[in-house]
Amino acid sequence: MFMIATRGCPYDCSYCFNHAYRELYAGKGKAVRSRSVENVIQEALELKQRYRPEIILFQDDTFILSQDWVLEFSKEYKDRVGIPFHCHFRANLVTEEIAGALHDAGCISIKMAIECIDDHVRNDILRRNLSFEELDRACAIVKKSGIKLVTQNILGTPGSSLDIDLATLRFSMKHRPSYAYATLLQAYPKTWICDYAKKHGYLEQDAEDYPASFFDRSMLNIPDKRKIERLRTLFALAVEFHFLYPLLRFLVRLPIEHISTLLDKLWRGYCIRHRIFPYSITIREYFHTIKVFLKTRWY
Ligand code: SF4
Repeated sequence: MFMIATRGCPYDCSYCFNHAYRELYAGKGKAVRSRSVENVIQEALELKQRYRPEIILFQDDTFILSQDWVLEFSKEYKDRVGIPFHCHFRANLVTEEIAGALHDAGCISIKMAIECIDDHVRNDILRRNLSFEELDRACAIVKKSGIKLVTQNILGTPGSSLDIDLATLRFSMKHRPSYAYATLLQAYPKTWICDYAKKHGYLEQDAEDYPASFFDRSMLNIPDKRKIERLRTLFALAVEFHFLYPLLRFLVRLPIEHISTLLDKLWRGYCIRHRIFPYSITIREYFHTIKVFLKTRWY
């Protein structure tokens, strides 16, 4: 079951809706709104009583914005709810105390964005405002805490390259996450990066044909675009199966997207089901999942 404890995010990442959202609603109240711990616990207890969920997925943009809130939540949740849960971290906010408290409360996996390992792309283009050391340290803390780490990575960013995207992949390989999401940068309208991409010729001025998913294709005019799109389909597999890494430069030159997209989807499904959000499933749900999966666009 899904829950949200905090709406909004105070950061300014250039590809995310949050900075545009804050401008749109400027002067109309607080952009970041956190519920009280007690209010969240009450909802979790109600869900527990009504539906007996096996796992709760907290969909807050960044679950650990307030350290005091997290520590209070961890204690109450452990004592009164006790259902395994998943949430999202931001690397600069990760401490051993926070990771330890959440693990103790039942946090089984977290997603944390790396996005791009190149300092210029990450901080000047994506405006992440995160150092390499913060990312490296946060990954190590999460792994040490016993919480399963899921990394989030963006390929095909303006100013990036195939070499940089491969370096981003190597960073995830080093930390051995339970899964490594890789997506293609989408410069959504009214975001800072959309204006940047148009100004620097990465995106047509009248661009409207956005893909349905950020896994599908890049809209940007970037070097090695086709290779980077193929790398995306191979990213998570190479992070898990290191023997693939030396083959990647060769593989991304081949028209293998149909098979690599299928393998990527199967691997993602396996990791979500067995590693990130493990839950039991009925035969009926199993066949329904396969039906939905087969309807999904392959490439
Ligand atoms: S930290 Fe995440 S949610 Fe917040 S602005 Fe950046 S990308 Fe968006």
